[in-house]
Amino acid sequence: MPSLFTFHIASPWLRELAGISVELVEASVPGTRLRESGALLVTHWGVSGPVILRLSAWGARALHGFNYQFSLHINWLPHLDGEAISAELAARRHAQPARTVINTPIPPLPARLWEQLVLAAGIARDTRWAALARAAHHRLCQQLIRTEFQVTGKSLNKEEFVTCGGVRLSDVNFKTMASRICLDLYFAGELLDIDGLMGGFNFQVAWIIGWLAGQAMAADAESARREEWP
Ligand SMILES: Cc1cc2nc3c(=O)[nH]c(=O)nc-3n(C[C@H](O)[C@H](O)[C@H](O)COP(=O)(O)OP(=O)(O)OC[C@H]3O[C@@H](n4cnc5c(N)ncnc54)[C@H](O)[C@@H]3O)c2cc1C
Repeated sequence: MPSLFTFHIASPWLRELAGISVELVEASVPGTRLRESGALLVTHWGVSGPVILRLSAWGARALHGFNYQFSLHINWLPHLDGEAISAELAARRHAQPARTVINTPIPPLPARLWEQLVLAAGIARDTRWAALARAAHHRLCQQLIRTEFQVTGKSLNKEEFVTCGGVRLSDVNFKTMASRICLDLYFAGELLDIDGLMGGFNFQVAWIIGWLAGQAMAADAESARREEWP
């Protein structure tokens, strides 16, 4: 099954933000233990970036089981807890009561993302901090801590970077990469049940194991030749 893929999300306000990246978010899949932190990139189809690719790698089997239809939670300010975010909002209310909420983002959130989060929290464009009702303050906190998206699919077949699953490692001799089941059969690369995160690990596995298997096959061929021609 595929690993290292991006998520499709149909949410119209997210699509407005295509091209925006946020350096650190926490992404999680409710009902699973899948939770990752890192940079997020908004695409024309949904979300990508290291945090999403890592989630797709650790969750390759689980997300396949959901047929790539699941809820995704994003915490946009993972370095702050709920109380700290609420205090940040309250501080703005005291310091800049006459400014509109939509025009005073919390760093490091990009202004365009902040705007959409404020609107998604049901706060009107012209609402000033001084007029922000308690319930709206709470909704904005919730939106910042846990925006919920519905993922409706993944990047298309063959666009993903790696496959998860493959030949069981216990069926292979790791010194030679020879099958323990079938004589004279050797494995390397994607065929094996190994998949790594980004960073060249998949290439490294393919090349190192390819070298090992090649050496072992050459040695086997050499000893077979010697047996035939003593
Ligand atoms: C878009 C993309 C980006 C990637 N980026 C990275 C990255 O940055 N870092 C990283 O570590 N990994 C990356 N990967 C993963 C990495 O490319 C693979 O893990 C690695 O190439 C696997 O090597 P392999 O030799 O097992 O398979 P492959 O590289 O897929 O080689 C298999 C070869 O077999 C050939 N073949 C298939 N069927 C037959 C047949 N019947 N007869 C003859 N030949 C056949 C194919 O044409 C192909 O050349 C990326 C993959 C993709 C798709």
